[in-house]
Amino acid sequence: RLYTNPILERDGSYPIGVIIVLQDITHVRKLEKVRSEFVANVSHELKTPLTSIKGFIETLKEGAIRDEKIALRFIDIIDAEADRLVNLINETLFLSELESNKEEKAKEKIEIKSAIDEIIPLFKSKAESKGIIIEKSIKGDIGVIFGSKDRFKQMLINLVDNAVKYSNEGGKITIQGYLEESRKVIVVEDTGIGIPEEDLPRIFERFYRVDKARVRTGEGGTGLGLSIVKHIAMNFNADISVESKLGKGTKFIIRFP
Ligand code: ADP
Repeated sequence: RLYTNPILERDGSYPIGVIIVLQDITHVRKLEKVRSEFVANVSHELKTPLTSIKGFIETLKEGAIRDEKIALRFIDIIDAEADRLVNLINETLFLSELESNKEEKAKEKIEIKSAIDEIIPLFKSKAESKGIIIEKSIKGDIGVIFGSKDRFKQMLINLVDNAVKYSNEGGKITIQGYLEESRKVIVVEDTGIGIPEEDLPRIFERFYRVDKARVRTGEGGTGLGLSIVKHIAMNFNADISVESKLGKGTKFIIRFP
């Protein structure tokens, strides 16, 4: 606010100057908005499995417990929903840790090739049960990068996990590593169900899921996997992009600086 009549000093004289401080708080407001939307989203996501757990417990108490077969089926559902809650909480905490960029310890030396070798066996049984092959192709001397090895592996794990989840029986997943000029590039590609073009710009948003009906029951994710991937890539100063064709497959490309 500018005063046309300057405020007089204590001794009645006019001030010798005025300092005007203008602060742009657009950014602060925006952050506040993002934060409160996040809290609203998390609360909503946590409520869904809890409502379902309460519902099944209520039905059991009202008599379903006397039919052992039905009771066991309900308990399995309650168990799965509780797992989902734990996943949601863990992933939300991990994401907020990534966002505040805390815990960035001394950078480790990460051998890209061996990190890829370490994560592939984690998907062996899940891929085999769907008849999916996972292949690795490293071209040239891709060497090392520096940062948190656990986070680097988590980024690949989330991408390969999605590739398996969103592939039909008999699909193929390829993990490539190569040099593009002096940049190290990692690609995770699948021959799965693909992502509709209109959803592509939003898939890295927290809790964004394309269509809950697209995967087998029991494979429902949290919608946080790709936000985590994006944040880890950002912490590595890497760019991530995606190409996808509905019904043909999806390709995630990470370019390190
Ligand atoms: P989710 O926990 O639902 O898998 P993500 O954040 O990992 O959440 O992914 C967001 C959405 O992007 C998913 O719901 C899915 O629809 C889509 N998606 C991610 N990866 C793939 C992929 N490889 N193929 C097809 N769709 C994918």
